Amino acid sequence: MDEPLPFDGADAGSSRGPYQQILYETARVLAESPTLVEAAPRMLRAVCEGLGWPYGALWEVDRGHNVLHCVGVWQPASLAFNEFAAASMASTFTPGMGLPGRVWASRQPAWIPDVTNDGNFPRAPIARNVGLHAAFGLPVLQGSTVVGVMEFFNRHILAPTPELLAMMTTVGTQVGLYVGRKWAADELERFFTLSLDMFCVASFDGHFIRVNPASERMLGYSEAELCAAPFMDFVHPDDRTATTDAVSLAASGAHVIDFENRYRASDGSYKWLQWTAVPVPKQGLIYCAARDVTERRTSAARLAQLVKDLDIARQSAEQAAVAKGEFLANMSHEIRTPMNAIMGMTDLALQTRLTPQQRDYIHTARESAEALLTIIDDILDVSKIEAGRLALDRAPFQFRDTVEDAVKLLAARAVEKGLELACRISPDVPDALIGDPGRLRQVILNLVGNAIKFTHAGEVTVDVALERLTVDEVTVRFRVTDTGIGIAEAKQWDIFGAFVQADASTTRRYGGTGLGLTISAQLVEMMGGRIWIESELGKGSRFHFVARFAIDHDAPHEAVSSASALDDLHVLIVDDNATNRLILVEMLTGWRMRAVPVAGAASAMAALREAVDRGDPFRLVLTDALMPDVDGFTLAADIAGDPRLAAVKVILLTSAGLARHRGTSSARLFAATLTKPVKQSELLDAVVTAFAPPPPVDIAPRARRAARSRTPEHRSLRVLVAEDNATNQKLVLSLLKHRGHHAVVVGNGRLAVEATAAEAFDLVLMDVQMPEMGGLEATVAIRERERGTGTHLPIIALTAHVMPGDREECLAAGMDAFVSKPLRPADLFAAIDQCFPVSGRLGAGAPGAA
Ligand code: ADP
Repeated sequence: MDEPLPFDGADAGSSRGPYQQILYETARVLAESPTLVEAAPRMLRAVCEGLGWPYGALWEVDRGHNVLHCVGVWQPASLAFNEFAAASMASTFTPGMGLPGRVWASRQPAWIPDVTNDGNFPRAPIARNVGLHAAFGLPVLQGSTVVGVMEFFNRHILAPTPELLAMMTTVGTQVGLYVGRKWAADELERFFTLSLDMFCVASFDGHFIRVNPASERMLGYSEAELCAAPFMDFVHPDDRTATTDAVSLAASGAHVIDFENRYRASDGSYKWLQWTAVPVPKQGLIYCAARDVTERRTSAARLAQLVKDLDIARQSAEQAAVAKGEFLANMSHEIRTPMNAIMGMTDLALQTRLTPQQRDYIHTARESAEALLTIIDDILDVSKIEAGRLALDRAPFQFRDTVEDAVKLLAARAVEKGLELACRISPDVPDALIGDPGRLRQVILNLVGNAIKFTHAGEVTVDVALERLTVDEVTVRFRVTDTGIGIAEAKQWDIFGAFVQADASTTRRYGGTGLGLTISAQLVEMMGGRIWIESELGKGSRFHFVARFAIDHDAPHEAVSSASALDDLHVLIVDDNATNRLILVEMLTGWRMRAVPVAGAASAMAALREAVDRGDPFRLVLTDALMPDVDGFTLAADIAGDPRLAAVKVILLTSAGLARHRGTSSARLFAATLTKPVKQSELLDAVVTAFAPPPPVDIAPRARRAARSRTPEHRSLRVLVAEDNATNQKLVLSLLKHRGHHAVVVGNGRLAVEATAAEAFDLVLMDVQMPEMGGLEATVAIRERERGTGTHLPIIALTAHVMPGDREECLAAGMDAFVSKPLRPADLFAAIDQCFPVSGRLGAGAPGAA
């Protein structure tokens, strides 16, 4: 240990001069070195030489592995601590281990007077070999985090001095600050390099000074190429003015946000760049970031084009829909006009003297025309649905009558096929509703018509139940059940499509177009409901639909039944069909009567007699006409033949056309005969009538008068017919003549206006579509002339236009009524009767009759 100074300076720490030299030197070294590893040997040397300590090392924290590595050693060239340096370079220390680990863990400087005697100094044997004894370590701190440790060794055993420790703490802090700055710079550099966006620094004179790798990738130029030319050279010519403005703005000190321009890439294409820039005017620099928004710009442009294209497509679709609607209205007119003639002429022909064969021919032609009209109506409905022009009416109607009348219309068809047809409407469904009764009828006719068509034996029942009731609205659920051929499951949803039938062969066997359900489904949807089906092939089908209707609060409340005399009326129901019995019991119970059902005549007689014995006789029997063992006629005769049952009244329920076969002799047995399916209102009327007291004598003349007023004595009218079609002229003339009216015909509206000016007429029948001047225009002209004169010539529109709004248009033009073609004589005369009620009041502005 007799080595000469300067490295034996055990007391060197007492001098302040060397300490300041050390601080100055380390600061200079750190400032000059790009990395800590490069700075380490010079810095360690400055400390070692300043203190006169012969060995120093720098340890760096490897945070990933949580150990300290030795990254730099300094020793004087003349002295060899190589063995110790090599061992240090090969070691790693965990927190707390050895001198570096101790400093790391405590974050405090540590002093060991003699490392060769220290229990926690793994390198002690080597230290002894090379002759190192005193040591101190100090943390390199960045804030409170240890980023490294410096250690210094002396060949003597030395105690610490506070001055030395204080000086070394300052050195440690200095190194820490350096490391912190270094890390921050590294971090920035890393982001600069990593960024997917373009980062660049530009000078106020219009050049890039630095660009990041993303700029090179984005535009395809090297950094040198990008910095070589003024950046304006890369900007799209159309964007240069805006770019100059943005640069001037930045040069004036303003931040630039979201400025977009196009830059030329090395492949000649242009990229849309979105810029954010911050100027540093003192340095004459602008720091910029740019993002490639070419994709967004092009997709926005594409979207705008798409919106434009869609708009054009929508406009042409709307035009097409309007054209389709007009085409439909015209087609409807064109088809209905000749159909009008066919139906009218066959009607007239049927009223003449014909041989049975001729009658049969014409009757068939008439029926075919009806069928054809139904198909045309269906096709028109489907087209209206497709054109979005189908609209529902909103009118008050009586629910029960509407449903029961619709079902009843098909009763004859059911009887022909020997099918039982029944209709049950739950008593809790309100009767006064608002909706479109015509369209409801159409759906019922379609479903019940199909049920009858596709059923060969058994029964078809319509069941109507209340689904939901609120103050203003009712939801009703309909169920049409049949015992027919059924529909395979796979086909059950298809049949709601237009022109679809479950089985291709059905067209041949059953006829039909496959449109009915399509229309029904659409109508039901418009009624706020839906339609669905349950069916099994060979076992029958059940079609359900729900529909919503408004409650008619303005309808007159039904008077509380005046038939209170009929309360508790004891009624026997005789029917072999269980469904019918159920329905009748429900109706009668609803009227507070006591109803007892039996299935046949034998049990009926037994029940009647037993009731007499009990002292609570039946007063009314409702019997089905056709029953398997004993029929209703025989039962009625048996009742009439039993003196104990003389007071019992019998009402016969028969299928359409059956009663007539028995002649009038049996009619005496019955208080009333009703055809099935029985309407509630009819049944109640029949029961009330059966038990009503006989009418007072003086009511008869009034009743006769009333009866006459329903079929008025026809006054002979002078009628002007404005119609361009020759066949229709002939038809209308024949109809009018048949009724005893006088008619004059003109071929267009202008002639009608002239004729009504020249001659007095009681009535005008005005076709709407005529050459030269149409019916609407002519009506307006006639009304114009009448203004202020107090006269009003009734005008009835005859039109094949049946699109929504047509009727309103006619009435708005000043017409009094509206009859649609093909003309049904009954409709025409009903309209005329409305214009000329028996009281003789002319032209009272009767409502339309269509
Ligand atoms: P159409 O009866 O005019 O053919 P629809 O649309 O009313 O048209 O009915 C479509 C098809 O659905 C019918 O052709 C038939 O195959 C089937 N279908 C409808 N109702 C029934 C039913 N009650 N029983 C069996 N099949 C039915």
